[in-house]
Amino acid sequence: MAKTPLDEYSKKRAFDATPEPAPALAPGASGPLLFVVQQHSARRMHYDFRLECDGVLLSWAVPKGPSLDRNDKRLAMQTEDHPYDYASFEGVIPPKQYGAGEVIVWDCGVYSPDEEGLWFHDRDTAQAQIREGLVKGKLSIQLRGVKLKGSFALVRTKEAQVWLLLKHKDRFVSAADITANDRSILCGASVAEMKSVPAHRIPAKQLVPEGKHVPMPAKLEPMHAEIGDAPFADPAWSWE
Ligand code: MN
Repeated sequence: MAKTPLDEYSKKRAFDATPEPAPALAPGASGPLLFVVQQHSARRMHYDFRLECDGVLLSWAVPKGPSLDRNDKRLAMQTEDHPYDYASFEGVIPPKQYGAGEVIVWDCGVYSPDEEGLWFHDRDTAQAQIREGLVKGKLSIQLRGVKLKGSFALVRTKEAQVWLLLKHKDRFVSAADITANDRSILCGASVAEMKSVPAHRIPAKQLVPEGKHVPMPAKLEPMHAEIGDAPFADPAWSWE
């Protein structure tokens, strides 16, 4: 068992060689809990499914990726907790480093346990239920992402690290392959295109609603296309 939640994460990585974030517990935040799914073209392509809880991201590697089809049981191997800041990481992990390959933020949004009601506005209760579910080996969660929506379950098998990711029956069930929707929800690039798109990080906390409400601006300026000499990434721009 790791001494601190991010020991295992740190041990596997050299932070002078990888652009991945250094381990740090997220400062006490407010608002709903974050989930993220990162597509990772490592030795084998997989999707990293992560749930914020107690300042870290609980993590599972899902080789086939999530599915909205109730008949699919997707293998989800539990991996080491990742720092909260990892949620907005996309880019290239250099050769010879742990997990070498390209990463995109395939989906993200907010989530809540959903077995005894929804707790989007009460993160203490939400986190307490997630901790309990981890011990029991059964999490039922409601996702409000860009691609993934509705109720899902993570269920531990007889083997400690081996879980299954399932879709519960609700109006978001679909037989269509959601992973065919293969672009980053942040920069618009596919995981293969990350080789040529410079990474531009935004703070992870910008992925979820936070801060005070402000009125809608009276005037909005549309985004104008421009001709450029080299590809770039900027969260204010959509990449094509
Ligand atoms: Mn991975």
